[in-house]
Amino acid sequence: MSTEKQFVASPESKAKAKQLRLFALLAWMVAIAGQVFAILKLISDETLTYLIIAIVVLLALALTGSWLWKKANRLDPASEKDKVKFFFQNQFGAIMGVLSFLPLVILILTNKDIEGKTKGIAGAIAVIAMLVAGISGVDFDPPSIEKYTKEINEQTDVVRKLNFDNDNVFWTRAGNRYHIFEECQHIRGRDEINNGSVKDSWDEKGISELCKTCQARAMRERNIQDADIEMPILEGEDVLED
Ligand SMILES: [Zn+2]
Repeated sequence: MSTEKQFVASPESKAKAKQLRLFALLAWMVAIAGQVFAILKLISDETLTYLIIAIVVLLALALTGSWLWKKANRLDPASEKDKVKFFFQNQFGAIMGVLSFLPLVILILTNKDIEGKTKGIAGAIAVIAMLVAGISGVDFDPPSIEKYTKEINEQTDVVRKLNFDNDNVFWTRAGNRYHIFEECQHIRGRDEINNGSVKDSWDEKGISELCKTCQARAMRERNIQDADIEMPILEGEDVLED
């Protein structure tokens, strides 16, 4: 591996991530407020239907929150060096997902004024919602500065092999691909085409990968064989086939 490049989220990425995190917190705050309302007003035999509707709305809010939160972490990931911060930043969505329902679940199940049937239905739905919110909030493959740095260096090597030892690439804000050829059909004619190194693309967009069309074209035009290019994702099985 040539010069080691370190991932650093661009100021725009950090600002975008901050905004997404604020929206996520807002969604969870509304969910908690809604939960308080449901606890105070909706745990009764007469309002079971409204309680179920409220749980569905709370679930939508909790899922929106963790989706935004994960998106923010992919733009501006934590470092693996600080284990505690790394855990909480990546799994915060799961914690908030459970908190969006746990008090409600407890208060439904311990309520003495509602019928057993109401308790069974409302309790079961609230528990399922809590599990769905909790599990969806878990980040099973959390991004990190270290993972991004490794990817950047591996991908830079690949692009250099394809492109005369040059890792200059092109990309647009939308999507997660970058391109070797500025006139590639996937970005041709776009208003704003950014240009820089593979690392610049990652810093600006988070997870990025080489456009398959550009990869195929570079290999064809420069007569590069599959075996010369170790794409990180294709490793292993491809080697066995040879
Ligand atoms: Zn392309």
